[in-house]
Amino acid sequence: MRAMGMESKVALVTGSSRGIGRAAALLLAESGVRVAVHYHRNRAAADQTLSQLKGRDHMVFQADVSDPEQTETLVSEVVSKMGSLDILVNNAGIFEDHPIADVSFDNWRGAWNRTLDVNLLGPANLCYWAAQHMMERSGGRIVNVSSRGAFRGEPEAPAYGASKAGLNAMSQSLAKALAPHGIFVCVVAPGFVETDMASSVLDGPEGDAIRAQSPLNRVATAEEVARAVLFLASEGTEFMTGCIVDVNGASYLRS
Ligand code: NAP
Repeated sequence: MRAMGMESKVALVTGSSRGIGRAAALLLAESGVRVAVHYHRNRAAADQTLSQLKGRDHMVFQADVSDPEQTETLVSEVVSKMGSLDILVNNAGIFEDHPIADVSFDNWRGAWNRTLDVNLLGPANLCYWAAQHMMERSGGRIVNVSSRGAFRGEPEAPAYGASKAGLNAMSQSLAKALAPHGIFVCVVAPGFVETDMASSVLDGPEGDAIRAQSPLNRVATAEEVARAVLFLASEGTEFMTGCIVDVNGASYLRS
């Protein structure tokens, strides 16, 4: 799958060592984009992503997105080593169960802090640094990977649902703030996806019921989500800025 007009652009895809991020990196590279493959702890997986990318001049970068200083360093390293930053895909994320009826207050607070730091404040800070660069160049794209959980609720992981609802709201605010600078901001909101994040649930006793949430009786592949990311990162979708695109197989409908 190729998108037009993307040749030689530079995209930073956070969390592209695995899962949806890797699938997005592969599709962007197929369209001629130079990809900054980003990982947190799993260098071997990031190198594997790098080895699978079509084209040349892709590079690997490490950062913990929950650390504000590392977000600044990450963006400045991408710009200095790759020459630009045209597309930011905020994909890295974590999911932690912390049911209110069962956890101690310390565990509750810990889950909230970690989840908001990685899933909301990390993307917010990366948007900040990327936008400084993109505003100077009067153009850019930001695609944030959210979740169906923002709308449907996450009873076992309320911080996760709140982090993704916050990501949606932040993206829509930034879409308004950045459009005058030629920077367009969109969101992809998947339901369950076949990745490491969901594998223990999908392989367990709840798996069949989760697949049955969709009339297609399955969950999404990472590539199906990545196609939406590629589309929103490509030329011609400017007027979609501020949108939230569901990729959930009609498992949760909203209008
Ligand atoms: P995944 O397979 O668990 O991969 C997570 C990625 O995030 C990895 O590349 C990981 O890096 C990176 N990461 C984790 N913590 C980080 C941190 N502190 N700093 C920097 N990077 C960090 O996840 P996925 O399923 O592909 O999910 C990608 C996105 O889709 C997430 O935002 C998730 O919330 C969203 N989503 C997923 C599903 C699903 O069912 N899978 C559903 C809806 C939404 P390392 O490999 O180096 O550890």
